[in-house]
Amino acid sequence: MKLLEDKILTDGQVYPGGVLKVGSFLNHQIDVPFVNELGKEFYRLYKDEGVNKILTIEASGIGIACLVAQNFNVPVVFAKKNQTKNIAGEVYTSKVVSFTHGREYDIIVSKEFLGPDDKVLIIDDFLANGSALQGLIKLVEDSGAKLAGCGIVIEKGFQPGGDMIRKTGVRVESLAIIDDMTDDGQITFRS
Ligand code: 5GP
Repeated sequence: MKLLEDKILTDGQVYPGGVLKVGSFLNHQIDVPFVNELGKEFYRLYKDEGVNKILTIEASGIGIACLVAQNFNVPVVFAKKNQTKNIAGEVYTSKVVSFTHGREYDIIVSKEFLGPDDKVLIIDDFLANGSALQGLIKLVEDSGAKLAGCGIVIEKGFQPGGDMIRKTGVRVESLAIIDDMTDDGQITFRS
């Protein structure tokens, strides 16, 4: 998506270790009219899939997911990074390894909000090694819901997550795919 690629080039900052900072418009400060355009694009891609729920992960996915959900006129469910004890039985749970912090944590969704009658679109800001997406996909599978696919704002194509998840047959639509990012700030998009 040209609009997104241009925004990444003007406002994104490349950090050592293959990290792209887009905090000025996507995941710290949110440029609402801009992210709303991303929401429209995800709607265009998935509008015929019968989506009745958007699933994301706290925290940075939530704002984006809400603007996507507005287009579908459906609710957003966000997986919580778990601190609560003794909730087995009431929640679906899976494990995620954080790309940015390097530690493993549990994510949970209440059984109240996901079940066999749902058709789910998963939304997240980044796809890197694929752990966050795999964790969310497992929650959908465990709930018996159907998965329409995944919508990613920025996929880092030089990391293995996208290929790995597409190989399992899951539809993954990324609005920008970065094939290369150098420490001096050069960004190459997949065409
Ligand atoms: P994965 O689980 O695919 O390795 O990483 C996805 C998660 O890590 C995303 O939810 C996102 O929050 C974070 N992430 C991965 N790469 C980047 C990056 O380059 N920049 C930022 N800001 N977050 C990232």
